[in-house]
Amino acid sequence: MSDATQGASEKEGRLEPRHGWRDMPLGGVIPKAGSATEYETGDWRSIRPLHSKERCINCLLCWVYCPDAAIRLQDGKVEGIDYEHCKGCGICAKECPQKVHAIEMVPEGRIKEMEAGDRDVR
Ligand code: SF4
Ligand code: SF4
Repeated sequence: MSDATQGASEKEGRLEPRHGWRDMPLGGVIPKAGSATEYETGDWRSIRPLHSKERCINCLLCWVYCPDAAIRLQDGKVEGIDYEHCKGCGICAKECPQKVHAIEMVPEGRIKEMEAGDRDVR
């Protein structure tokens, strides 16, 4: 790694393979503003929200309340869910109006089984 590259990564707060555990930031510390998108929290999700475009009335309550900004919009309508950042908290399903019930929380294990069986997961 060149000095210039090394300096750049340190300036940006990124960890490289040469770093050890002492270089890791303290828990709860955000070393750089606007860096949340770099943390793919979706890989520790155990329950996945499944969105139904057929049932959705696009009230956008899920978008307002999602703590990870993982509800994707297009032209003011819910387009889908960003599973790289959705951590499966279930807030979107809780906030979706009960009568609409357009988001269902499904265990990841069940989704994998259904994908393996090539069946509809909803
Ligand atoms: S489960 Fe949580 S993180 Fe995922 S889309 Fe819903 S509110 Fe956002
Ligand atoms: S809260 Fe439910 S109905 Fe409202 S936009 Fe989200 S998924 Fe659609």
